[in-house]
Amino acid sequence: MSNKRDYYEILGVAKSASAAEIKKAYRKQAVKYHPDKNPGDKEAEEKFKEAAEAYEVLSDDNKRARYDQYGHAGMGGAAGGGGFGGGGMNMEDIFSQFGDIFGGGGFGGFGGGFGGQSRGPRRMKGSDLRIRVKLNLEEMVNGCEKKVKVKRFKQAPGVTAKTCPTCNGSGQQVRVTNTILGQMQTATTCGTCQGVGKVADKIPSGANNQGLIKEEETIDLQIPAGAREGIQLQVRGKGNDAPFDGIPGDLLVVIEEEEHDALKRDGNNLHYDLYISMPDAILGSSQEVPTVNGKVKIKIDKGTQSGKVLRLKGQGLVDLNGYGKGDLFVHVNIWTPTNLSKEQEAFFEKMRDDSHFSPEPSKNEKSFFERVKDMFQ
Ligand SMILES: [Zn+2]
Repeated sequence: MSNKRDYYEILGVAKSASAAEIKKAYRKQAVKYHPDKNPGDKEAEEKFKEAAEAYEVLSDDNKRARYDQYGHAGMGGAAGGGGFGGGGMNMEDIFSQFGDIFGGGGFGGFGGGFGGQSRGPRRMKGSDLRIRVKLNLEEMVNGCEKKVKVKRFKQAPGVTAKTCPTCNGSGQQVRVTNTILGQMQTATTCGTCQGVGKVADKIPSGANNQGLIKEEETIDLQIPAGAREGIQLQVRGKGNDAPFDGIPGDLLVVIEEEEHDALKRDGNNLHYDLYISMPDAILGSSQEVPTVNGKVKIKIDKGTQSGKVLRLKGQGLVDLNGYGKGDLFVHVNIWTPTNLSKEQEAFFEKMRDDSHFSPEPSKNEKSFFERVKDMFQ
């Protein structure tokens, strides 16, 4: 896993390649290194797998963005069993994932030894499972590890299979009908075994009639930095098992966002409402501001106006499309006291007509609308 080649290099495309170019490049590689064309050639098989892995990532907008940003490191530790995409693919995975590429015409002649599409029994694929995982801001910004408990169908130990008596293991039922044009043969998927060609023989207690048993499993999720509400991560093979050595489904993890007490998220940016006292605004001060990674001190200049927005660069969230990091905007609010003593009120009464206290916004203050405009530049 250490010296992995660049996915773009593997497919021989530019970083800016379109989805169509990537698909085309992958087909070319797949044809060249296809195991049917290179029987027993280990190197070709590796190249074939490598190309499939590259295509799996680059054909998926989310994965591609993550790869562009983090390289192979961003693809998660597939070896640990909880990785997101990339790595650890076997031939069956490749053929099941890219059925559209191999099956979609122009590829005739393939599809023998690897559980080919239409003839002979097929391998079943287990269904995907979907869970929701709540993340707080810190976890979304920094990435995190989560242990989740998932109830999934697994092959029960001790289950045995026998050839399907209905189709004799072919997975297909051939029906002969008499028509005015003569006899017609139609092949349909066997209803007894759903095309697998096998049915359960010995079923351990607790398992269903396909030999599957529901069990709870704890799965380690590696959540990359930059995850956020609505994003879906895929954990290979952690969905439901398929009966009789079929291909297990995937676990799909949908991210939900927990609201932060003080920081509000807006895209990649964060916003914080800071309240300061009148003396602090008039005389200047130092203030603490929360960020996702702890508190930071900021300087409030002498004579700071209410509504001023301070920008802490790079204190927001990682952009998923590779446009760097968002910022933290600190909105300064000046707190007007409501419980002054008679003495204090008398002081402000004296200041009421003092010219130093009269607003002169045109001099050095930008209007609210100008500030908003500045923020988005
Ligand atoms: Zn059958």
